[in-house]
Amino acid sequence: MSHIIVIANQKGGVGKTTTAVNLSACIATTGKSTLLVDLDPQGNSTSGIGIDKKELEASLYDVVVSEISKKDNATSEISAENVILETQIENLWILPSEKNLAGAEVELVNVPQREFCLRNILAPIQDEYDYIFIDAPPSLSLLTINGLAAAQSVLIPLQCEYFALEGLSELLQTIILVRDSLNNALRLQGVLLTMFQLTNLSKQVIDDVRDHLGDKVFDTVIPRNVTLGEAPSFGMPIIEYDRACAGALAYSRLADELIERNG
Ligand code: ATP
Ligand code: MG
Repeated sequence: MSHIIVIANQKGGVGKTTTAVNLSACIATTGKSTLLVDLDPQGNSTSGIGIDKKELEASLYDVVVSEISKKDNATSEISAENVILETQIENLWILPSEKNLAGAEVELVNVPQREFCLRNILAPIQDEYDYIFIDAPPSLSLLTINGLAAAQSVLIPLQCEYFALEGLSELLQTIILVRDSLNNALRLQGVLLTMFQLTNLSKQVIDDVRDHLGDKVFDTVIPRNVTLGEAPSFGMPIIEYDRACAGALAYSRLADELIERNG
């Protein structure tokens, strides 16, 4: 059975996409077949993994539209497998997105069962992968709810900064709501501390978060690492761009920790 993990935090810029791209690349490198689903209209996972968004013939948006019109018995059908692309990393595939995905949010509003669109899209293909990572947008929008409804667990990146815990209770509340109403199987995979720097503030944040959330926090902490910030502009995950840098080592350790937890 595949593990479906959504990487979510409604706060912007906390390291969701950096984690989605690099964790999925590290997991794929261990030999597990892995799918990265870009659920953010910003399409940062898509470009970060080396796909030129301008060259896309179809993207997740087209699959969503097709899934919606299926219910009207329309004939045109684009399924996930028509849109999934190979990446430069062995064992890693991507379901790409671009800015038109923002339109899906509007088109889904009046659809019955609108929260289950992504789940339905992934259902026919999920058994082909050991791990599926979903990179959610920075909001608690219908797209994110679709991610939570499709996943078995949530990984929450938290930036090691003063306001790290702000907004977390709202996110945890949303996860509980989704679990109670849409997806009984949903659980918290873990909280990942990102962009750690050797400052008193960063250390204080780590202590506070660990006090608060205990063993829900991954042992692995991702350091602030300039190379991690550079790699996406070359369309490469960190293990391709500079496999020896601190960021690459941290994401490899995280992959090991995740596999240890889940198999
Ligand atoms: P959004 O909410 O907009 O989707 P996000 O949560 O996906 O953002 P990222 O895009 O992963 O966050 O990261 C925000 C910025 O910080 C990016 O420029 C990224 O390259 C950089 N960054 C992320 N993690 C690190 C890190 N550990 N060290 C250095 N830079 C980082
Ligand atoms: Mg992002």
